[in-house]
Amino acid sequence: MKQIFVTKPSLPRLEEFQTSLARIWKSEYITNNGEFHKELEAKLAAYLGVKYVSLFSNGTLALITALQALGIKGEVITTPYSFVATTNSLLWNGVKPVFADVNSNNCNIDVEAIESAITSETTALMPVHVYGVPCEMEKIESIAKKYNLKVIYDAAHAFGVQHNGQSVLNYGDLSILSFHATKVFNTIEGGAIISHTKEMKQKIDNLKNFGIIDELTVVDAGINAKMNEVQAAYGLLNLKHVDEEILKRKKCHDLYVELLKDVAGVDFLDISEVKGYNYGYYPIFIKDDYALGRNDLYDLLMENGIYSRRYFYPLISDFPIYSNIESANRSNLKNAAVLTESVLCLPMYAELEEEDIIAITNLIKNPIK
Ligand SMILES: *Cc1c(COP(=O)(O)O)cnc(C)c1O
Repeated sequence: MKQIFVTKPSLPRLEEFQTSLARIWKSEYITNNGEFHKELEAKLAAYLGVKYVSLFSNGTLALITALQALGIKGEVITTPYSFVATTNSLLWNGVKPVFADVNSNNCNIDVEAIESAITSETTALMPVHVYGVPCEMEKIESIAKKYNLKVIYDAAHAFGVQHNGQSVLNYGDLSILSFHATKVFNTIEGGAIISHTKEMKQKIDNLKNFGIIDELTVVDAGINAKMNEVQAAYGLLNLKHVDEEILKRKKCHDLYVELLKDVAGVDFLDISEVKGYNYGYYPIFIKDDYALGRNDLYDLLMENGIYSRRYFYPLISDFPIYSNIESANRSNLKNAAVLTESVLCLPMYAELEEEDIIAITNLIKNPIK
């Protein structure tokens, strides 16, 4: 039986990568802000339309370091409907996550729920642009201003996404990206912090390199989260093809919509208003009037060699390390609870074939065991 995976990484062309590797071997400079690293930071800043990019070895260390750079303590209001790295970064900083419910239409944190979760301990907000759909950033930032809070966006899904004619990454105090193999743009493992001033970029760059300023000076208890030259070179090659990759993903997305739009009990994410959408995921939401439950559909697809992903399920707030926090109670997270029980992300990647999408959607239309 043919297997259809839920995602496949975009790989650079092998010959091009070999040429880059030959350059690295010749230079004998393999990490610590080398030529490829500098070039990738500059090209990403230009591509994304942002001021400063600091590359990281992964998105989670970027999140952890972003919180360090802003000196975040106390409580941070965030979403239960995300990947667990979002809130693990808070625990690594000794910060208490406070969960706020999400909007049922776009899966992003609900601004009203944010405002009611604020206490005297709140120091920051950490919203996530889930599936690359921008949060309500104007409202979030007016709340932040009113209560004097920092805003760190987990923009791991929002590569290239625009809002009001500019990158979503220009909002908030800091945003982080992930360049993990499963993301639209990947450096195998990797990530970045986007900052808006030279001073902040400098601070972040020091923090990701042990807090070292120069040979004799260490100013912060930094970590080691640097991206190496091999990954930066790989990233530069992937960046050349990322627009083409996104276009191919869009074609998959449009075919899914076409084939599933009339299926009773299947809901979609509305991305029609999103500029620069990157088609990173294709979530559907299985309602009560569908022929099967969500988990049964997941199993049926699996029995037919099709891997889908319940992303995000369970809620972060359901994991034992979080479930004893008061705000983790599902009665506080009603919309998130419905989404997590109904979501199914279907296979989505640039090289996904039309016949595969037809096979997947035929099964969803006729879910016979
Ligand atoms: C992928 C992801 C991360 C973590 O990024 P890594 O590069 O895998 O460490 C964080 N948050 C969200 C929402 C993600 O999807």
